Amino acid sequence: MKKKRFKLLLINPLNLRRIGLIRDRESIYPPMSLGIIAALTPPDWDVEILDENFERFEYKEADLVGFTALTSSIYRAYELASIYRENKVPTVIGGIHASMLPDEALQYVDTVVKGEAESIWPKVIEDFEKNRLESLYEGKLLPMVESPKPRIDLYNPGYAFGSIQTTRGCPNLCDFCSVHTFNGRAYRPRPVQEVIDEYSKIPQKRVYFVDDNLIGYSKKSAQRIIEICKGIIDRGIKKDWFCSASMNIGQNEEVLEYMAKAGCRMIFLGIESELIDQLQAANKSTNIRIGIDNFQKIYDAIHKHHIAVLGAFIFGLDTDTADSIRKRTDYILSADIDAMQTTILTPLPGTLLYNRFKKEGRLLFTNYPEDWQRYSFAEVVYKPKLMEADAFESVVKESWTRLYDDKTLKRKIIKTLKATRNPTAATWAYASNLQYHNLTFEGERQRIDIRDIFNQLTIPIHEK
Ligand code: SF4
Repeated sequence: MKKKRFKLLLINPLNLRRIGLIRDRESIYPPMSLGIIAALTPPDWDVEILDENFERFEYKEADLVGFTALTSSIYRAYELASIYRENKVPTVIGGIHASMLPDEALQYVDTVVKGEAESIWPKVIEDFEKNRLESLYEGKLLPMVESPKPRIDLYNPGYAFGSIQTTRGCPNLCDFCSVHTFNGRAYRPRPVQEVIDEYSKIPQKRVYFVDDNLIGYSKKSAQRIIEICKGIIDRGIKKDWFCSASMNIGQNEEVLEYMAKAGCRMIFLGIESELIDQLQAANKSTNIRIGIDNFQKIYDAIHKHHIAVLGAFIFGLDTDTADSIRKRTDYILSADIDAMQTTILTPLPGTLLYNRFKKEGRLLFTNYPEDWQRYSFAEVVYKPKLMEADAFESVVKESWTRLYDDKTLKRKIIKTLKATRNPTAATWAYASNLQYHNLTFEGERQRIDIRDIFNQLTIPIHEK
């Protein structure tokens, strides 16, 4: 008898409050985890991705429905899952939030895949086909060799940036981060040739390397980046890209030189704070090792190679007061940081911070799962230690007004142009600042439409 052809519908849910780091199309990236799940699904299945970043949800027939979700979008995932459950269609969810709180997820979804899915998804499919789907599957952390390449053909073509991942895992234990919990503490790199092959097939001209830390901490991992860059250069692949890296990237000029030649235009640095006691409290070990007095040297080294600095800072660390937040704002404005990400400390499940705040009774919004929508880095969801929550919120808004003021952003782009001598780097930093302007002024100031900002500024992409 001919086997039935099953249909897998994969849904990328959107927090309908649309605030925080997900507001602009230009600040979102293809749903890589769903692309990987699609690649792991047998070829005799039909697979479709319904991406709420681009389309309004409409019920689609399927035999199995899969979701991935961050904490801020988990409520929407549960809402949509309940629609399919009412229609007796099995639902399965993976991703960071469901992995950290599987018992919660199982109230709304039939099956949870906890952890990285690569090792276990074939078993989920096999069990589904044999009508014996279990409620919980646990993935192992596999070496990143011959990793499945995401089905980019299923992504919505409207994404401004393509994306690629070259490593997983982080040895550090920053208080507010869940990477070490979800992806493990071993730094797992992909082989250079596999990365270059995948990179060469990305259709977009702009790419985001989604690694939490592209450079890593060893000589070997730095050499690996050089090899990837050399491969990109040798193959003549002309794309512009940006990445996240730990601050030690600014101590390796050889790496920066190759990155720039291979198309790197901006580097996201998790600076978090300019105060050593705050870095210590957050356990931001790399930045402590580098020393706050050397931060400027890191920015200078990156600029020297015509690359912009996207500096990420946190407001609301435990020793923060209104005064220290104002001083952090002064620092961000005066230091040579081109794009400025300033977010409100947010305790996400899976972080040491969440466990601590929960234990201390400091979580303000606990009507879960609905309140998870607030955990978007743009709302105060916990009781600060040295301020009232509303006083904290008002000083953050005051800082955002100063940071993302139109005149400030124009001054910044000129400064970035001078520092990097690279119009593309300056444009990217400016576009990022406009995104941050938009995400921090929900409904309160005119939202700047940054669609096609790159093209509006008519800057050639590949000046060298
Ligand atoms: S914030 Fe960065 S360095 Fe710290 S644990 Fe997370 S991924 Fe690692």
